[in-house]
Amino acid sequence: MAEKMLAVMKKGKAPGAELIEVDIPKIKEDEVLVKIKACSICGTDVHIYNWDEWSQSRIKPPMIFGHECAGDVVEVGKNVKGVKVGDYVSAETHIPDQTCFLCKTGKMHICQNLKILGVDTNGAFAEYIAIPEICVWKNDKSLAPEIGSIQEPFGNATYTVMESQVSAKNIAIMGDGPIACFAAGIARVVGAAKIFGVGEFPFRVNLLNKMGANPVYSILKHKPVDEIMKATSGEGVDVVLEMTGAKKAIEDGFKILKKGGTFTAFGIPSGKIEFDLSNNVIFKGCNIIGINGRKMFETWYQLSNLLNNKLVDPSPVITHKFPLKDFQKGFDAILSPKKECGKVVLFP
Ligand SMILES: [Zn+2]
Ligand SMILES: [Zn+2]
Repeated sequence: MAEKMLAVMKKGKAPGAELIEVDIPKIKEDEVLVKIKACSICGTDVHIYNWDEWSQSRIKPPMIFGHECAGDVVEVGKNVKGVKVGDYVSAETHIPDQTCFLCKTGKMHICQNLKILGVDTNGAFAEYIAIPEICVWKNDKSLAPEIGSIQEPFGNATYTVMESQVSAKNIAIMGDGPIACFAAGIARVVGAAKIFGVGEFPFRVNLLNKMGANPVYSILKHKPVDEIMKATSGEGVDVVLEMTGAKKAIEDGFKILKKGGTFTAFGIPSGKIEFDLSNNVIFKGCNIIGINGRKMFETWYQLSNLLNNKLVDPSPVITHKFPLKDFQKGFDAILSPKKECGKVVLFP
């Protein structure tokens, strides 16, 4: 086997990234080596690429970033038991320590000492990646590599929707990013009654609609709060899936939430936000659910059932595909002011 590979690397403490030749990772005893077929760009990768405040505090260059991937196992460590060479896999990106209270009580996804693949370790924008066995998910051979690679964010959407118990309820999805679009498709399949979609950019609002939200609103031209309250006879929706982290969306989300409803928070605000606990939560008697990652591995079984049985087709959300060496074009598409893109997949 070749000893070198191409990888997209954050070389220094500055914006951007470089394609360089590096050594193929040497696996540890509990890891597998995966030859990557497809990897997709996540919001987290954009933070790292831009070298924003969060990445400055968390990322330690030089490192290979990227974490959403699908590929074939080409080597297994000597303590690996459940994965073999030739398996077609993807990666759960939350790396648990497997020893803390949370890991021992079925909550590995929020492990006390959580590490993230491609954030705290070398990642997937490369020809090969080392993945701890605990994070390996075996794919159905029929799954296209680009779909395999987006299962991690699709899993965020699955966890958000399933935890919110949307069946036969009116819901609103705040956000028009890829995960919000996936959530619309999943909510429709698991039987949400009406799915209101609230986004910003016309291209993405259209995607939200294509995936199953109807009606959809753009905050650039509609007043979604008024429209949704009118459409629900002034009562509001049973469930709000907040997938932006924007202060305005959070506020609007609580305005349109019915008394006794469920507010599910997935989008991460960039800082602290002021919040009316009395009126939004206490007097409303509502539930708030926080979503971090994917349940390991209940969410993966659910998302695989959705994808393998073709109940949800995520492909409309995959709008751009490039060879890995053209990763720059992928970031350009995501960073374009009009946001005329969904998910960008790269192929090594
Ligand atoms: Zn991701
Ligand atoms: Zn743990």
